[in-house]
Order: sequence, then C-alpha cells, then structure tokens
Amino acid sequence: MKYTQENLQAFALEIGACLCGGAELGVSPIEDEKMRYAFSIAVKLSDAVLKEIDGAPTFSYFQHYRTANALLDQIAFRLANKIEENGFSAFPIAASQSLGKENPFRGVYPHKTAAVLAGLGFVGKSGLFLSEEYGSRVRLATVLTDMPLKANKPIVENGCGSCTACQKACPAGAIYGELPTADGERNFDAEKCSRYMKEHFQGIGRGSVCGVCIRVCPKNKL
Ligand code: SF4
Ligand code: SF4
Repeated sequence: MKYTQENLQAFALEIGACLCGGAELGVSPIEDEKMRYAFSIAVKLSDAVLKEIDGAPTFSYFQHYRTANALLDQIAFRLANKIEENGFSAFPIAASQSLGKENPFRGVYPHKTAAVLAGLGFVGKSGLFLSEEYGSRVRLATVLTDMPLKANKPIVENGCGSCTACQKACPAGAIYGELPTADGERNFDAEKCSRYMKEHFQGIGRGSVCGVCIRVCPKNKL
C-alpha cells in the first residue's frame, strides 16, 4: 500500500478540498458489496458571491455553484485514481447527480450522509450539511471505496438549536423547521424546493439554484 488514509486526505486538501474525511458506511450502496467505505470531500463556496444573494439567486451564484461542482468532480476523480494506485477500488460520485426521472433528487449515495459519517459535521434544519468551520458554505462529493477507512472524529452534534432562520426565509416553504430524522431527509421537501426554483428562477441557470437558505444561516457569518 503506497498511501495511508491520511496521505489521501492530505492529497484532496492539496488539490482544492477544504475538508476531507473517511467514513465507514456499513453497507455498500452499489453492487460491489466490498465498497463499504467512503471519502467525503467538501469545497468552500465564496463568501462574497453568497453575500450577493438577497431573496433570490444571482447569475454569479449559479456560475460559482457549477464551478464548485466541477472542482469537486475533479478532486473525486483524481482521488479515485490514487486509491486505485493503492491497490483498491474507487467509485467517485459526482457532486450533483440524479438517478433519472424516477429518482430525480437522489444520487448513488447521499453526500451529506457520508460527510456526517466521516465526522465532518451535521445536517441542519435546512437539510443542508454544515461543518463547524464553514457552516453550510460548502458543496460535497463522495468517493466509495473498499479501502478500509476510519472516521476522523466522532459524529458532531446537531448545532441548529432553536434557530429557524432558514425555515422563515425559504420562499418555497420547503423547510419544516425541524431537526433531521436519522436519514437526514424528512425535515426538508426536495421536490417543493426544486419546483419553486424551476417556476421562479427559470431565468438563472434554468431554475437549478436558489441559495437563500445558505445566505441566511447564522452559522455562515455572512
Ligand atoms: S434552496 Fe431556496 S427554495 Fe430550496 S430550500 Fe433553500 S431557500 Fe428554500
Ligand atoms: S439557518 Fe438556523 S436552523 Fe437553518 S440550518 Fe442554519 S443554523 Fe440551522
């Protein structure tokens, strides 16, 4: 084995990630049942771009969001190559992925679940992943692997407390203001969020981004 888990995490940080950690998933989400581990990768979004969001997305945010996804996909791709060089299998999951019309809001594995299992942070009432250092100003990608990995640190407690700023600000009413359930999903209606964006923000990136819940979150100190 050429690289340790720590070497691979350091590599991801060197090439643009702001956070990277290993997780044990318990069960492989793909056919190869050995792929029970994952590297979770985060990149940080620009404070200045997020600050411009005022109740609606901006063209700058849409372009920035796409660039963050492209960077994440590059990091995941290169990390997967390194894992293979190490003698293990690796399956990079794109930052923004859907499984087609029947499963439009799900990818191969939820990035935020991998990030939580890696001990990088928690899922907030907004349904977004939040880290202690960056709040929800991050986007995520995941690389599944059969290389045995350990979580960096214990799973972080939910830090939303009594705040409901994202619920109050969400123009779609897609955030229920509750802490997430164990699967991190049922406090947020992804279908409602997506429908609202498509109906109201079609002129910006064909209604694929909003960003209001990130802009108002006090954990982001914007
Ligand atoms: S992205 Fe916009 S519409 Fe979707 S949950 Fe956040 S604030 Fe609501
Ligand atoms: S706005 Fe408040 S409730 Fe919503 S995710 Fe941020 S801290 Fe949690």
